[in-house]
Amino acid sequence: MRLRRLTVAALSVAALVLPLSGASATAAPGTSGLKLVATRDSLLATHYWYAQTYAGHPVLGGYYAKHVDKTSGRVTIDDGRMAVSGLAGTAAPRVATASAKASASNRAKGAAVASEVAVLPGSQAKLVYSVLTRSTAGTSRTLVDATSGAVLKTESLIKRDTGTGTVFSPNPVTTLQDESLTDQDDANAAVPKRAYKHVRLTNLDGSGFLSGAYATIIDPVATQPRSSELEFNYLRANDHFEQVMAYYSVTEAQRYIHRLGFSDVNSEPQDLTTTGFTDDNSFYDPSTDGITFGTGGVDDAEDAEVIWHEYGHAIQDAQVPNFGSTPDAGAIGEGFGDWWALVMSAAVQPDTDVTPLACIMDWDSTSYTDEEPHCLRRTDTDLTYADRIGEVHFDGQIWSRALFDVYNALGRTKAATLVLEAQFSYRPNTKMPAAARVTVDTAKALYGAGAAAKVRAAFEARGIL
Ligand SMILES: [Zn+2]
Repeated sequence: MRLRRLTVAALSVAALVLPLSGASATAAPGTSGLKLVATRDSLLATHYWYAQTYAGHPVLGGYYAKHVDKTSGRVTIDDGRMAVSGLAGTAAPRVATASAKASASNRAKGAAVASEVAVLPGSQAKLVYSVLTRSTAGTSRTLVDATSGAVLKTESLIKRDTGTGTVFSPNPVTTLQDESLTDQDDANAAVPKRAYKHVRLTNLDGSGFLSGAYATIIDPVATQPRSSELEFNYLRANDHFEQVMAYYSVTEAQRYIHRLGFSDVNSEPQDLTTTGFTDDNSFYDPSTDGITFGTGGVDDAEDAEVIWHEYGHAIQDAQVPNFGSTPDAGAIGEGFGDWWALVMSAAVQPDTDVTPLACIMDWDSTSYTDEEPHCLRRTDTDLTYADRIGEVHFDGQIWSRALFDVYNALGRTKAATLVLEAQFSYRPNTKMPAAARVTVDTAKALYGAGAAAKVRAAFEARGIL
């Protein structure tokens, strides 16, 4: 129960009379009281925080704050005291401290490190032991009824931002080195268990939803998983699996971008939708800044390379407002997305004859390609700038091949850093030659003339420069 906020005008700190229903803060046990627990100084005021007490024991959840304005002396009271009734002011524990600690330790699976007698407020308030226990999972608080010895509840005190999840990384075809896998209408049986990986889900906001600093699932709440323990383990037939995939893959990409030193490349919770769109397609929508993954064929969000491709569009849109307004710029967008998928995949997939790194979306494409290896597109074609046909995905292969050569010449870290840095200076309506020149100049600024020459050679090989 929260009581009302009230303002006591212009009382000095020393003269303030605390409105304690007839008792002062120093009253004897048996009555309500307040105990000063913290004083905080801010720019505008001094803040006094009190713990509510009853019979000399802290009342759990009760608080009382007094904010004193430094200029006017105005005092604002925030009264969060809880009602305590049905408990005698002389109540004393009947259970021994050691016994309460043992019960708490047993329940919370940790070693008891502290305990105090407290009051659990309510219309039938209880005297309890509040016992802190600690284990490798952090600290928990367990309430043990000081009269009956019963454990009333236990709760973790740690603020979680890391959970666990089950994912494909990047996809089962590459993980199992098996081009014969097929969707089989989203059946769990279609993919052996060893294709799954258990991973840490980081940067979560602790709400229990798949929401965090870099990604947030915006499917209808009723369709979203929620776990107070932040455990998100599902198999592919469960729609929650794609939600975990999307959250994890985008977050990993943004964490990588941060490791490269960029703190402002789409560094915000990316809106992600994985249910409700039944086409075998996915898209980034710049007007909503959201990514939608289709569920036709292999669910698109079951292949991290699809997720990273779409995230590539979000990255470019964040770097250059309205990027991609011409066919050439659109092709750069598609080519970068494919290449970004390759860059991310390189950390988690083997580059083999069965699943070459240059083959993009190996799992998603099993639904619509017959040839092996199954690829939506490749980044190692011999297409040149003269081969453009005005279709952004096709033409994008010219750009992705140039970036693939840059990747092979400079290595993953330098290539990714270079391309992200250069893209900040691309025009929204750029053509490939102009964007290539910016990239060469950026390579020179970052890594010197030798690196710039290799980058220039990659674009020259495509006839772009
Ligand atoms: Zn695209």
